[in-house]
Amino acid sequence: MGLLDTSFIIQEFVPRKVWEVWRDRSIWFINPNMILFVQWLKDQTDSTVTVNDWCFGGSYEFSGLRPFDCQIGANMSQHRFGNAIDIKVKGWTAEQVRNLIRDHWKFLHDKFGLTTIEKDTPTWIHADFRFTGLNYLFEVNYK
Ligand SMILES: [Zn+2]
Repeated sequence: MGLLDTSFIIQEFVPRKVWEVWRDRSIWFINPNMILFVQWLKDQTDSTVTVNDWCFGGSYEFSGLRPFDCQIGANMSQHRFGNAIDIKVKGWTAEQVRNLIRDHWKFLHDKFGLTTIEKDTPTWIHADFRFTGLNYLFEVNYK
């Protein structure tokens, strides 16, 4: 069993270099609600939900935490703070998953603190847990 009684492990949320130094203490750098949220998404879609898969031989390594010296993504992105994930759901388009999130936003906000997604990302879903103070799902433009 993985983290917090989910089927996920910490390596799926941090890059290899962080894992190699911090090992199980890498949880210090991750908002735990992200783990619970991806498990909810896995249960809802009954599909394979991927954040990072470098630990399984895949190429996704920076879809969760992005350290400050990592060249990928924006400087003050929520990924820098362990507060954002880029999700892939097998067999679902990104827009289908966004619509699922939109349909359940109130629940997802109250249960996990999910506040924000990016619109129109083509093959992945960005979700983050920043404080917005808004009573609706904040949808930021992608690029
Ligand atoms: Zn992202």
